Formats: sequence, structure tokens, C-alpha cells
Amino acid sequence: RSGFITIIGRPNVGKSTLINYLIGEKLSIISNKPQTTRNTIQAILTRDEFQMVFIDTPGIHKPKHKLGEYMVRIAVNSLNDVDLVLFLTTPEETLGVGDKHIIEQLKNVKTPVILVINKIDTVKRDVTAKTIDNYRHEYEFSDIVPISALTGENVDNLLKVMVSKL
Ligand code: GDP
Ligand code: MG
Repeated sequence: RSGFITIIGRPNVGKSTLINYLIGEKLSIISNKPQTTRNTIQAILTRDEFQMVFIDTPGIHKPKHKLGEYMVRIAVNSLNDVDLVLFLTTPEETLGVGDKHIIEQLKNVKTPVILVINKIDTVKRDVTAKTIDNYRHEYEFSDIVPISALTGENVDNLLKVMVSKL
């Protein structure tokens, strides 16, 4: 199986860390300049069972840019052009405005979205459970997977879930 995947999420949630973990910080990282890239290939992960091409898509995860309607449409369209979206967030007791903004945009996206709750190594389990509960009521995610991109905890499971959606 193979497909195009994009990772969205607020700054600092661990998007680059996850890609680095998956790729093993080898030469596969083609571009690492999120501020300047538009629909460029970030990395390609090839295994016997699958190939995943990670694409950097514009707009939706850059709340510091004030986006006009046109830019929002481009951002949403780019999410509809990939096979799978990973929405990265972190465990929090309550949903922040940044994440609410992203969920609003996702309501116009038809691509399956996996919610990835990253940095679970930094909190107690009940915080992660609360986070899952909060998000479940906000959007119909294709799946919800808690991980640590730093330690690699549950990343294998995330890959399995991703492959099952391709
Ligand atoms: P990005 O802006 O979404 O690309 O976030 P980065 O990948 O640059 O990560 C931001 C910071 O969070 C860095 O200091 C990472 O080392 C840290 N980080 C990323 N993932 C994890 C994680 O799973 N656990 C912990 N403790 N820190 C993480
Ligand atoms: Mg980054």
C-alpha cells in the first residue's frame, strides 16, 4: 500500500520529531523549512509492506499568518488532496483555541484524519484519557492514537493504523 500523508498541528507539538523518528534521521528528509514550503515532499518512508510520502501542506497549521478566505480554501483543498491527515496535538485538560481552529477547518475535509496525541511521556495516563474524551466529542476522527515521538512509545501501533487507512 502507498499514499500521501500530511501532518498538521500547532507549532511545537512534535511534527518534525515524529517524522525524524519514523525516518530515523537519515537522508530521506528532503525539506525541513516549514515556513517556506508549499506542498513539498518532506520525507518518504519505504518498508516492505508500504510506502508513505509525507507532504508539507500550507496554511492550516500556521495560525500566526492571518489567513484570508482564499488562503483557508487553499489550505483545506490541500488536505483533501492527500490520502491521510495526521492531526498532532498534546495531552491537555481542555481544548485550546489553536486546536479548535484546526478542528473548524477539518469540518470541510473529506480525507480521513487520525488524531495523534503526542508527548504522552510528559503526563499521567488520566490526562491522556481526558484528552481523548474531549476530542471525541469535537470531530469524527478516523482513529485516535496516543504516542511519544521522543521515546517511540506506541509509534509502531500508529504506523499500523496509518497503513490500515491507505
Ligand atoms: P513541531 O513544531 O511540531 O515540528 O515540533 P518539534 O518536532 O520541533 O518539537 C518541539 C519540541 O517538543 C522539541 O523540543 C521536541 O524535542 C519536543 N518533543 C517532540 N515530541 C516529543 C515527545 O513525544 N515527548 C517529549 N517529551 N517532547 C517531545
Ligand atoms: Mg517542525
